[in-house]
Amino acid sequence: MSDIITRFPPSPTGHLHVGGARTALFNWLYARHTHGKFVLRIEDTDTARSTQASVDAIFEALEWLGIEWDEGPYFQTQRFDIYKEYLQKLIHAGHAYYCTCSSEKVEAMRARAMETGAKPKYDGTCREKNLPKTDDAVVRFKAPLSGTTVLKDVVKGNIVFQNDELDDYIICRSDGTPTYNFVVVIDDITMHINTIIRGDDHVMNTPKQMLIYKALDVPLPVYGHVPMVLGSDRTRLSKRHGATSVTAYRDLGFLPDAFINYLVRLGWSHGDQEFFTRDALVEKFSLENIGRSAGVFDQEKLLALNAEHIKATPVKTLATLLIPFLKKEGIEAREGVFIEGVIKTLVPRSKTLKEMARDAIFYYADTIEYEEKAARKFLKDAALEPLNMLIAELQTLDTFTEKNLEDAFRAVMEKSGLKLGKIAQPVRVALTGRTASPGIFEIIEIIGKDTVLERLIKAVDFINAKPDSTGKA
Ligand code: GLU
Repeated sequence: MSDIITRFPPSPTGHLHVGGARTALFNWLYARHTHGKFVLRIEDTDTARSTQASVDAIFEALEWLGIEWDEGPYFQTQRFDIYKEYLQKLIHAGHAYYCTCSSEKVEAMRARAMETGAKPKYDGTCREKNLPKTDDAVVRFKAPLSGTTVLKDVVKGNIVFQNDELDDYIICRSDGTPTYNFVVVIDDITMHINTIIRGDDHVMNTPKQMLIYKALDVPLPVYGHVPMVLGSDRTRLSKRHGATSVTAYRDLGFLPDAFINYLVRLGWSHGDQEFFTRDALVEKFSLENIGRSAGVFDQEKLLALNAEHIKATPVKTLATLLIPFLKKEGIEAREGVFIEGVIKTLVPRSKTLKEMARDAIFYYADTIEYEEKAARKFLKDAALEPLNMLIAELQTLDTFTEKNLEDAFRAVMEKSGLKLGKIAQPVRVALTGRTASPGIFEIIEIIGKDTVLERLIKAVDFINAKPDSTGKA
């Protein structure tokens, strides 16, 4: 095991979204690649917005993605004693102080500063007063008044912040609750996190956090700030662009391996390679190849990649994954040769498991519903003769093989004088209800003699029952 320790610290204020999942993935991959450790921490100090349902949704999404954590989950709301201890440390060492300025007063000083064109920050009224703790006092961090704080970011390069622009920001409110930029640092220090990969919406927080490390004399972690994921119009990905929650993609029938493959490519590259298995990602992932430009989330690309992953997944695995989707279509399917045969015919044409389940319905259906257009075009009088001929040919066969099916169709072609297409299309509609399906021979082999004959006879009956048929209805 290396000493790399990464973390994912979601705030449980909603489902796990695409951007958050990518952050989790990068940290997880880096930990796996380096044989390090990946820590999960739930940042639930915002009690008004945090919910148990969101916590559960985050766990569920991470589990689906196969991102398993080595340590945690920690919950910030269970760690207040630790934060208090560090707060006292900072106050005693003179790096933080109690401040009794009212929020109105602070607002007024900010407004005044803005009028003179200065940075709107706290003016340090209580900074050197050494005030004792009182009910109305907040704790402020004593930011340096000069010099610079340099963020050496593995993705963005060096970013220089002027310390005199940094506020003496509040690290603990008067009600005793510590603030975000403080608890994050205390958690990262006490959890020995040494590599922080996160969205670049946190860049402006980073100097504030770095100053706490310095005040506590703790070495800084490695930082990498990754550009946000964008929607097709190049604005930050949001609901306007379609589904943003990870579990929505699970429900749409994406494979977790395809989804992580797509996520990783939204901000990391390895030459021109697009397709990666999970193992390949673990092997190849590096911080150096995280890109500086924002990735654009493209549903079509995700679908194409999912189709490729479906093709690369063993049929038995697909069977296990497909069964719940079939259930949603009202089909109770079991693992075994039948479903595996079904899947083999659908793999080349399926972009998602949901699509595959829909296309599999005819294999399982007790009665075939004909698509209106398909029946109108192909189940008509002209089809009666070849269908009846085929029924007669198939009845003579004990088992179906590719060879004897071909012979049976050829015999019908010869006797009827029709081309294969003229025979195959009505047969296809009879067997599947549709005009597009996997190959006819494959279907016939899978559904077997009894069902095939039953469906062909039903199609003949259907044609005969039509009012415009040859006088029989
Ligand atoms: N809880 C923060 C968020 O969900 C993450 C903080 C961090 O990565 O430092 O955005």
